[in-house]
Amino acid sequence: MSEQSPTLVWIRRDLRLSDHAALCAAVERGGPVIPVFVRDSTVEALGAAPKWRLEQGLAVYMSALEEKGSRLILRAGPAREVIPALVRETGAGAVYWQRAYDPASVERDADIKSALKEDGIDARSFAGHVMFEPWTVETKQGGYYKVYSPFWRAVKEREVPAPLPEPSHLPAPADWPESEALKDWQLGAAMNRGAEVLAKHVKPGEAAAQARLGAFIRDGVGEYGEMRDRLDVDGTSRMSEYLSLGEISPARCWHAGLRAQADGKAGAGKFLAELAWREFAYHLMWHTPHMLEDNWREEWKAFPWKEDRRLKEVRAWEQARTGMEVVDAALREMYVTGYMHNRARMIVASYLTKHMMVHWRIGMAWFDDCLVDWDPASNAMGWQWVAGCGPDAAPYFRVFNPETQAEKFDPKGAYRRRWIAEGQSQPPQDALDYFEAVPRSWDLSPKDGYPKPVVSAAEGRQAALTAYEERDF
Ligand code: FAD
Repeated sequence: MSEQSPTLVWIRRDLRLSDHAALCAAVERGGPVIPVFVRDSTVEALGAAPKWRLEQGLAVYMSALEEKGSRLILRAGPAREVIPALVRETGAGAVYWQRAYDPASVERDADIKSALKEDGIDARSFAGHVMFEPWTVETKQGGYYKVYSPFWRAVKEREVPAPLPEPSHLPAPADWPESEALKDWQLGAAMNRGAEVLAKHVKPGEAAAQARLGAFIRDGVGEYGEMRDRLDVDGTSRMSEYLSLGEISPARCWHAGLRAQADGKAGAGKFLAELAWREFAYHLMWHTPHMLEDNWREEWKAFPWKEDRRLKEVRAWEQARTGMEVVDAALREMYVTGYMHNRARMIVASYLTKHMMVHWRIGMAWFDDCLVDWDPASNAMGWQWVAGCGPDAAPYFRVFNPETQAEKFDPKGAYRRRWIAEGQSQPPQDALDYFEAVPRSWDLSPKDGYPKPVVSAAEGRQAALTAYEERDF
């Protein structure tokens, strides 16, 4: 029997057993390992779908730990209080966790680390949520990157450590501390009747993540370069929801991409470059955290975006009844599955911020609430990129035309038919499910007529361009 004191492993957005540096270090330290998850303000702040998805992920993770003879202790309250209290309760001599990079978590973690250290506890954090920690990538002048291409050139040849294996055994304490019950937390409550619909499309957990990655590398990555933009094709990895909760590590995806590249699979290089976009988002969030709330470019503060959720165009956009088929199809895809195709994200974001001239913050907040792959850095970067106010943004005068985008990326209309029931005599189940998922108070029916465009493609484009011309950028 080891004399070593227990180690608390504070689990956050890293619901996996493999490639988990904090878990491995805890096992190596010797002594019992006590995994703990804290329902603190960062969890409370999550939107409806991400919170529901977290509940699904936690349930699977708890079972995976139990199969290893371990448990996940659940506690609610401010982490600054919960973690030290659990240290006292269990006699833990160490607390390990994997680093987060958003400003609220960074501040919280720094506070906790110094308080624990003052009490003589071995408090340590590890990398894992990203491959290239933001402070390790510097320009020649010692600054940070504001543009993706040079960032990519700076990281693409870097050595990324191979994923760590899953610990074969997690030593349990003689007595487990009390845990709250996941079902009592009701993390999915805000989803209401949408939860049942969403559940059909979500396969949570590390095993599902690895299976999906394996299938993508085997069957999808070869044509990823050509197919990734097609709305009507399942041509992307679908790793985002797993990366968001850390059910898979970016390093595992990266190494799978490298192996595919070595095997001569054509799209593998593009896949690696896309993984680096996620890294770039974290790089930007770390160096310029204001991007989560404000225009990255100061000069956009004066742009006359509308910012009122009650506006009829905002309501039409949120309810996926803009009358612009590809926009509505995409927004319904998100409502039903919690996911939206990347090309579709750009189209709906452009329509909101350019055709409708509504502030990107409104769209970002809607995504915060609806996406199961919600990620603070990628979401903010994506919205600012489309709106034109980000550091490395689409030129503000480039206004996506939803109609031509649809012709190009959904050439036979299959994506639009899959998601829009109105006007079809026998709509597919996915299209009908939208009406099952939305709040009854919206009073929508598949038998309703399909609306006329709230803002037409041509008028919206002209209005946006006129507004840009009047600005002095
Ligand atoms: P793949 O094409 O298979 O790409 C592989 C991985 O690379 C993705 O899982 C993701 O981690 C990363 N990646 C790919 N494209 C991007 C990108 N443009 N930015 C950052 N990382 C990228 N992604 C999120 O994970 N969460 C979000 O909340 C989110 N919000 C977005 C909002 C807007 C307005 C836009 C334009 C993009 C947003 N993205 C977000 C980025 C992108 O749309 C998704 O990462 C991608 O669609 C996920 O699908 P996939 O895993 O099949 O991607």
